[in-house]
Amino acid sequence: MVNKIGVVGLGYVGLPLSCAFASRSFKVIGLDTDLEKIELIKRGETPIYEEGLQDLLKRVLKEKTFKATSSYRELVEESEACFICVGTPSNPDGSVDLRYVREAVEMISEYLKRLDRYFLIVVRSTIPPSTTCNLVRKILDERSGKKLGEYGLCFNPEFLREGKALQDIFNPDRIIIGSMDERSGELLLEIYKKFHGDSMPPTLVTNPTNAELIKYASNVFLATKVSFINMISQICQRLPDADVRIVAEGIGMDKRIGREFLNAGLGWGGSCFPKDVKAFLRFGQELGLHLKLVESVIEINEAQIAEAVRLADNLVGGLNGKIISILGLAFKPGTDDVRESRSIQLIKELLKYNVRIKVHDPKSLEKVMSILGDKVTYCKTIEECLTDSDLCILATEWAEYKEINQEILKKYMRKPALLDCRRLYEPAQFKEIKFAAMGLGY
Ligand code: NAD
Repeated sequence: MVNKIGVVGLGYVGLPLSCAFASRSFKVIGLDTDLEKIELIKRGETPIYEEGLQDLLKRVLKEKTFKATSSYRELVEESEACFICVGTPSNPDGSVDLRYVREAVEMISEYLKRLDRYFLIVVRSTIPPSTTCNLVRKILDERSGKKLGEYGLCFNPEFLREGKALQDIFNPDRIIIGSMDERSGELLLEIYKKFHGDSMPPTLVTNPTNAELIKYASNVFLATKVSFINMISQICQRLPDADVRIVAEGIGMDKRIGREFLNAGLGWGGSCFPKDVKAFLRFGQELGLHLKLVESVIEINEAQIAEAVRLADNLVGGLNGKIISILGLAFKPGTDDVRESRSIQLIKELLKYNVRIKVHDPKSLEKVMSILGDKVTYCKTIEECLTDSDLCILATEWAEYKEINQEILKKYMRKPALLDCRRLYEPAQFKEIKFAAMGLGY
């Protein structure tokens, strides 16, 4: 029975995962190469915003079931199984940059070499099909001098949604275990049985390549669903009586389709979909396949930004010289993550016109400063952001933005106009508004 777990990479995946394991009968040692991050975590401060994480981190540190380190020696010596959760960003050509996975596996191998007991390595980072069987195993064999069987190896994809990371870790829809051999798979299954107890989620045990493909195919499918509804949204935009929200509701009533991921908006962004969809396209090319569907999914996503700029321009009778308030910068509510945020993409596009942009976000202002610098004005309150502006664009559906009504907009804005890209408002509310207002896809 595994009692001690190591987690390598304490980012949006690794830190919530560490705290979750540490809160349920495991002793966890978490490692990151970013020393500032480690110092923060040791002090009980989370380097990222994720609901409930700050309190859980403080609790597991106090109970001494979690500790953070930057030493691989400590990690391997003090754990029986370790989960690799390092980043897998895109290379300029869209393929996956496996540098951090390689580094982590090399370091683990160095200390595995000196270990006289079985050790399970679980790759949780998203990696292209066959990477576990080829690259990861090869490094482990060569660098540790051991053979599979002396150590265990699995690929076990992560499906959490940022903003709901802990909720998803504690109650996942499914667990996919891609094991290199029976013993590795059984051990990982045991870990999850201990973690979930009586509420064990549906589980699929297969080989690593299937598991790697399941992760990519899931993300590409979800991105396809979003692009599909955005295509319908573009049609609705051009039909006087059509509303994409109602259409989505009707489509979603079909159990075979489902309502989730049918929300029209600025498109899919964030740290996973853009890089994973591009990587999948590239992976297809390596197999000699031209994945035209995936190409279209990307094209539609890009077109949503142009569509929003076109609508903004129409709403204010030409963007030139206008002051625009952008509400919401994180790629979705509940997180401070701005990687590949559609809102930032929209801002970059709007800046090509002679406009002044003021921005607000409840959690991510600081992160955006390092991306947009002095190109925009950063506002701590919604009111400050709206003051004197000509157009308000709702770009992330934070709950607090739902409270904004036409009185507030009229009070603060120079000449109020509203573009609701997240459909926070009902069509009936739009009809009540006495100034130029529009929802994407309506
Ligand atoms: P992240 O960038 O937030 O965190 C990665 C962490 O790994 C960083 O703290 C970094 O300092 C650390 N790191 C880099 N190299 C290291 C090394 N050699 N040794 C130890 N630590 C190292 O990334 P993330 O969002 O947590 O994603 C991690 C992986 O999980 C990626 O493959 C991603 O595609 C996948 N994933 C992410 C999500 C998500 O919602 N963020 C969901 C599912 C899967």
